[in-house]
Amino acid sequence: MQKSLTKTLVFQLQPDESGQQLLDDAFLEARSVYNETIQRAKNGEDWDEIRQDLESNANLVNNTAQLVVQKSLEAIENYYEYDDYNQPSYTKDGAYPLRSNYEEGYNLFPEDDCIRYRISAKPYNPVKGTLYGSPAALEQLRNAIESDDWRVGTAEAMNRNGNYELHINTTHTEAEVRDKEDSRTVVGVDINEDCVALAVLHEDDIVDSVVIDFPEIKEKRHRYFTIRKRMQYNGKSSFDRAFEQQEERFVHGQLHKVSRQVVEWVSRFEKPCIVFEDLKEMRDSIDYGTRMNRRLHSLPFRKLREFITYKAAFQGIPSDEITPEYTSQACSLTECEHTTRANRNKKRFKCVECRRQDHADRNAAINIAKKGLAKLNRNVPALKTLPNVRKLRRQVSGCVNQPTVTHDTARGHHADGVAGVSD
Ligand SMILES: [Zn+2]
Repeated sequence: MQKSLTKTLVFQLQPDESGQQLLDDAFLEARSVYNETIQRAKNGEDWDEIRQDLESNANLVNNTAQLVVQKSLEAIENYYEYDDYNQPSYTKDGAYPLRSNYEEGYNLFPEDDCIRYRISAKPYNPVKGTLYGSPAALEQLRNAIESDDWRVGTAEAMNRNGNYELHINTTHTEAEVRDKEDSRTVVGVDINEDCVALAVLHEDDIVDSVVIDFPEIKEKRHRYFTIRKRMQYNGKSSFDRAFEQQEERFVHGQLHKVSRQVVEWVSRFEKPCIVFEDLKEMRDSIDYGTRMNRRLHSLPFRKLREFITYKAAFQGIPSDEITPEYTSQACSLTECEHTTRANRNKKRFKCVECRRQDHADRNAAINIAKKGLAKLNRNVPALKTLPNVRKLRRQVSGCVNQPTVTHDTARGHHADGVAGVSD
């Protein structure tokens, strides 16, 4: 099966003074397009009408205005679908990234010793210069421009910490992901606000399991959330955007590290298939309860899953999903499988029937893996005993206190800030 894999490459623009001025103006214009889109969408105006109006009125090249409107509407959509507590606001000020299509809003010109850029910040007013970046990123970009296997896609120009940057999406069109029917092991993944639990099963038994803790992500998010609430309470409705970006960047960076660690661990097993709970079913289920609710609204759930999926895909490892019903309530021992909410108390699982105790998320990960095997029409092993729960904690330094693997499989892919997988 073939999948397209997208990697985002980050470059410095280092524009001259007039270039900076043009970009700053364009960022502000993009901000006002964003605000107006959000405001009108919230007022219930027709989205097609909003698109038409803003694309023709904005002082941006057409295609760029279109992409900014699109991104704003996606923020609204995302909020409706998943994330009740990050409602997009239309009162923000300051710079907003300028998104454009390759060879429309921006263009690239590889030369012998550098790559030159041209960004149409405003109609008929291009900003030109040379891209600065790591040798690896420049090499990758040159390759993407020149090779048939790669495609150069949309880019975002932005100002980050005072630096003018261009984030360019490049897509590999022919990465090969192994057929999941062909898997020998199934890895159940249970993602929570402060940890991810993994359990590997094959047709005869459980192979291994681990819980990777990342409490600082939860702590950081809660801290920011409290500060945000307090500031709104004090009437400072438009709190510092830089502050918000700082949170995003921290969480984003941590989730990249965790996902890399997950994929490194998974890649040690024979022909693995990674199995997640189906997000859509979790949302539609009437009975998902407070635990599910909390998990759905926690950003790590979606992002971590996305990062794991694409990093695994880069190594040819397929992913699948199963229905989330009872994965956290059922006792994972085959001779018991007693299912009740009373089995679980926060992180502690204690089966009311067989009295077995377990880490609640490890127990859930095993149930997810069992469902994954069943979905692939494989034998689900009769589990009689389980290995001890092993925990790994991600330190603030970004290192793990106990290395899980010595090889460095996923390292080649982490220069990217953001990336995604599409079929
Ligand atoms: Zn039991």
